[in-house]
Amino acid sequence: MNLFSNIEIPSQMKRCINSHPLSLRRWGVLALVSVGFTIQFGVDWGLQHDVLGRRELTVWLDPIAHVVLAISVTLPWIVALRLPRSYLLLAAAAALLIDIDHIIAARSFSLTAAINLPGRPISHSLLFSTGAAVIFGLMVRRTTAAIVVLIALFTHVSRDATGGGTPLLWPLAESTQIPADWHIGFWLMVALAGSFWRFRKNRAEDSV
Ligand SMILES: [Zn+2]
Repeated sequence: MNLFSNIEIPSQMKRCINSHPLSLRRWGVLALVSVGFTIQFGVDWGLQHDVLGRRELTVWLDPIAHVVLAISVTLPWIVALRLPRSYLLLAAAAALLIDIDHIIAARSFSLTAAINLPGRPISHSLLFSTGAAVIFGLMVRRTTAAIVVLIALFTHVSRDATGGGTPLLWPLAESTQIPADWHIGFWLMVALAGSFWRFRKNRAEDSV
């Protein structure tokens, strides 16, 4: 018999577990953001040089870069706005799960088929990402959760668009390519803005 089966967690404690904010100092946030963006360059280098010797193996580095980028961009804002730490998992899941559309488009669980499509599916677009985030927000009734999902999806399609073959602006364009330094520069600014916003807010709180 499980001794803990009859113990009920008070609803207040449940709420606390679910919405416990992530507390990090500004230097900690900046350090994690730096590591996250360094990993982007590392993965890109690895993909370009097929560092694992086979494309089917090396391509697995890409989901890591997507998850790390989504977390690096949303982390400063999750800390700054005192959002639940579980939102980091939400960002990671959104950045990862969008690639399920490759399996659907390829109609196969074969990795070779999924990575050899003529182009990425239309679900890799800003329009689809926005629609998916809105639907998710309506389902969970949390605007902040929807915004975190939206940003995570945008980081994904933005990173994919640096390699071309991404219908970023669908239905206006079938494929859009953006320069890699624009992509990195934009998301780095978003991440730094989150860190800086927190710093200013704390300074204002300190002076009260
Ligand atoms: Zn993708």
